[in-house]
Amino acid sequence: MSDCLFCKMVSGEIPPDKVYEDDEVLAFRDINPQAPLHVLVIPKEHIATLNDLDNAHRPLVGRMVQAAAKIAAQEGVDASGYRTVLNCNADAGQSVFHIHLHLLAGRQMHWPPG
Ligand code: 5GP
Ligand code: ZN
Repeated sequence: MSDCLFCKMVSGEIPPDKVYEDDEVLAFRDINPQAPLHVLVIPKEHIATLNDLDNAHRPLVGRMVQAAAKIAAQEGVDASGYRTVLNCNADAGQSVFHIHLHLLAGRQMHWPPG
């Protein structure tokens, strides 16, 4: 999608600070990190919100979650722990409408989240 920020990262029009890539998934550091490690894992396919997922996307979502686990190991936080978050629409604070999994680590997380 031409006016989507994260599609521009996929195409390379805006170069991301990449930490992981495969044929279906791209991951890069968040521009405004909320923890010492804050990575966004996105599908290369444009999907606006979680509400737009269909059955064909099931393997892709699995790839996103597995990519997050791989990055956590790569960054050395797999044993200490990490949080994954997927925000959907206004009440969750979604601000970029191309689905993305937040991978947060490197500090103690709190519950419930804000
Ligand atoms: P949301 O609020 O939609 O769940 O998360 C969007 C995330 O994208 C935010 O954490 C925000 O900091 C991040 N973000 C917004 N613009 C950019 C950008 O240009 N580059 C990167 N790397 N992250 C961005
Ligand atoms: Zn997009």
